[in-house]
Amino acid sequence: MITVLANANVIDGVRADVLRGASVTIDDGRIALVAPGGNQVPSGARVIDLRGAYLLPGLWDVHVHLEWPRVPSATLAELTVQYAENASRGLVESGVTSIRTAGVPHFIDVALKRAGESGRLTVPRIFAGGWFLTTTAGHALGTGFAKTCDGPMGFVRAIREQMEAGVDHIKLNLSGGVFGPSWDRHWHSFLLTEELEAAFTICRQRGYRVMAHATNPEAVKAALRLGAHSVEHGYIMDDDCLALFRERQAWYVPTLGITHLTPAQASTEWEARWVERRGLTADIIERAEDAAPEHRAWFQKALASGVKMALGSDLRPLRDSANLEMELWVKDGATPWQAIAAATRHAADLCGAGDLLGTIEAGKIADLIAVRDNPLEDIHHLRSLLLVVKDGRVVADHRAAAPGS
Ligand SMILES: [Zn+2]
Repeated sequence: MITVLANANVIDGVRADVLRGASVTIDDGRIALVAPGGNQVPSGARVIDLRGAYLLPGLWDVHVHLEWPRVPSATLAELTVQYAENASRGLVESGVTSIRTAGVPHFIDVALKRAGESGRLTVPRIFAGGWFLTTTAGHALGTGFAKTCDGPMGFVRAIREQMEAGVDHIKLNLSGGVFGPSWDRHWHSFLLTEELEAAFTICRQRGYRVMAHATNPEAVKAALRLGAHSVEHGYIMDDDCLALFRERQAWYVPTLGITHLTPAQASTEWEARWVERRGLTADIIERAEDAAPEHRAWFQKALASGVKMALGSDLRPLRDSANLEMELWVKDGATPWQAIAAATRHAADLCGAGDLLGTIEAGKIADLIAVRDNPLEDIHHLRSLLLVVKDGRVVADHRAAAPGS
């Protein structure tokens, strides 16, 4: 089956410009040809006229929890259905074609990944991390997706169980967070040296990448020195952290939404609506606002100093996540192009899938979105979503509903 997406303004994820009036030929789920101007349409091909819409690689969010809304008494069956719906709506309603999970209980993410790969369920491509591994008195204990481990062997055993269950990477919690009780603070580190060394040693020995939640300079440096593949959050850092990121070629995933989305900071209708629905407590709002200025400063320094960065939101539900986080990147000084590259090519690279995904180039898997207006001019234009293509198949077509199309 050959599909031609004609009259497209292509933002390919490689160059920061627009290839105007191009057509993209998809054959058997792969991009066969990106041609400037109208190319020859093979006989029998299906032609979709994009009428000047902007065609981009599908969006990625590399820090996802599939919960939302949180139902404390939910059964495993209810969670599974909720997570599947959340994942599916992220793909269909926002064009998030790939995600990396950062803490999902009972390996529901592994099950969804398998269901998606076999075509039984229309969900984003999933890079699964299973449980969020922390300590007693650790972080995210109220969420239902944290597993507590204590002592070096406690971590080793839990990590081995994750491997056996089919995860792609290991999510390790090194320090506190913004959301949590009074004893869970982001400037505190949680693991003993022996626990850290055991956890990273078993991951290295078995070839699993560590996705490290680290929120203060001590935790960030420990994660980087021990070989973390990505560091999440980094609310407080120092110049040594940035130097280590570059030296180790590790990834930074800043999750700006965690500290930036409060009633006083919301500056767009989408942010305001999200904050209102989220229903944050006064204590969490205060903690987020206290942490925001420093978080912003380290995001800006990391971006300016050439640290490898990818877009991960830590926001729920998935249909709001990538757009809000990309908009916050731009609000904090990134260009729309930097935000788009972070949510496409760089995210795919972070997940080890850069040879197959993340850009619009011949040979790559056809995970694509079309939006009506140019997102390089205004990042909010990514919300004018018209079409979502995954594995070369149209999984969402909003053209009839979109105003002005
Ligand atoms: Zn998270």
